[in-house]
Amino acid sequence: MRGISVDGKTVQVGVVVTAASAALSGLVGLWTWGGWSAAGVAVFASVTTSLLTWGIIARWAQRTADSLRQPGWSSATSPREGPFGCLIDVAAEHLRSIESRLQREVRHRLELEALVQVRSQKVRRLEMAFSALDTPVLVTDSEDRILYCNPAALRLFGRGDKDGAEEAFESLDLASLPALRDLVLETRLRASATSQRSTELELSVGGEVIAYRGKAVNVYGEGGVHLGVVTVLSDIRDERLAKTRHAEFVSAVSHEMKTPLASIKAFIEMLMDGDVADPEEQQELYGFIDAQVDRLTRMINSMLNLARIESGVIKIQRQDCELNEQLEKAADVIRPVAEEKQIRFVTELSELYLPVHVDPELFGQAIINLLSNAVKYTPSGGEVRLRSRMEEDQAVIEVRDTGMGIPEDSLPHIFDRFYRVPENNKAASGTGLGLALVHYIITDVHNGSIRVTSRVDEGTCFTLKLPLGHLEPKRRTERVLCSA
Ligand code: ADP
Repeated sequence: MRGISVDGKTVQVGVVVTAASAALSGLVGLWTWGGWSAAGVAVFASVTTSLLTWGIIARWAQRTADSLRQPGWSSATSPREGPFGCLIDVAAEHLRSIESRLQREVRHRLELEALVQVRSQKVRRLEMAFSALDTPVLVTDSEDRILYCNPAALRLFGRGDKDGAEEAFESLDLASLPALRDLVLETRLRASATSQRSTELELSVGGEVIAYRGKAVNVYGEGGVHLGVVTVLSDIRDERLAKTRHAEFVSAVSHEMKTPLASIKAFIEMLMDGDVADPEEQQELYGFIDAQVDRLTRMINSMLNLARIESGVIKIQRQDCELNEQLEKAADVIRPVAEEKQIRFVTELSELYLPVHVDPELFGQAIINLLSNAVKYTPSGGEVRLRSRMEEDQAVIEVRDTGMGIPEDSLPHIFDRFYRVPENNKAASGTGLGLALVHYIITDVHNGSIRVTSRVDEGTCFTLKLPLGHLEPKRRTERVLCSA
């Protein structure tokens, strides 16, 4: 036996051994009573006392062990009895403090885990949002090293759409795009003066030079520590093109208006100075002035129409229509003009019901413009033909004439604003805006296409294609049934 054993069996054995020892000591005492009386009694007494003490201690140990086995023994706060009670109280107190520290740590760990999860979801969402952007976005650190690039920015570095693994960013270098590097560098160096910089830059992407507006913003951490720069690049090619077109348009308008205005001014001066005394000649000059005023009016009206449609002032009201109905309406407007000029006007419309979703006003105006041109640039005795047919999922419209045609080198410019074929100028007056309007109405407003083929002195054919179908399928069925 080593030290104080605490299991029940040992205690029982101890009690039995104690009893046996006591009995043995008694016998020794009795035996020695006659011979060695005093020493025998002393030995008997000490052995008996030791054994009894050992038995009592073993019993306390047993009780202590039993109480330690109780669940929640450490949470009892009242002082424990017995010789080991104070030791157990101290151990219990230590245990309680360890338990509460452990609980705090576990709670803290769970909170941290939840926070990390929320943060990583937030970062993932942001990354996905940046990935969906066509606008390049890149983040650099306080030493201009690239920390993040969205796929659009990766394309700038010729990395295709490779997803932004961090190792991939490490190999990217701003030095390959000097204009971008300068913007980032200047933004960082002037951080104390201004938090952001914006500039226009041209970057070479895949052999193509693209104009961007770069906006770089300094990023600060806690305590104002500079963390780096976030740069966003917006493609401004369309903006530049629009500016150029606008400038070209203004210059073309001024040019086009100058000529009739100069003529009007010259004729009026002649009349005012009395240079033309003959009433017949005067009438002729009035006639010229009137014609120039008409030309200016037509030009202004055409420009206003175009500007109103493009700027959205005229609200586009597309609706489900039947194509041939619309074509018939336009034909009715032009037929008398053609007859007056002794031009054979033929309509050859499809027998099928051709459902289209168009703005009747604008679409009608486009067809009238084409028919009117066909009549204008076809000499008397010629023919103008309006046709419609179905081709797969498209409606095809043809405006064909047997007129003077358009020279090959003029064909690429035919839809440009103010463009007039020099060879055809004398055949009819015009503004050079009619076909630009037709092109806008068919392609931009109705998602269709327009194509022209022509041969000088043989004739011209404009072919339009529009998506077939109504927006509301139910109405389409009803109409199909009606027309059947
Ligand atoms: P315009 O008011 O001068 O007719 P458009 O924009 O309608 O302006 O047409 C541009 C030019 O295209 C015309 O000036 C004319 O020279 C040429 N053109 C258009 N349609 C035809 C056609 N059917 N046949 C020959 N030339 C045409």
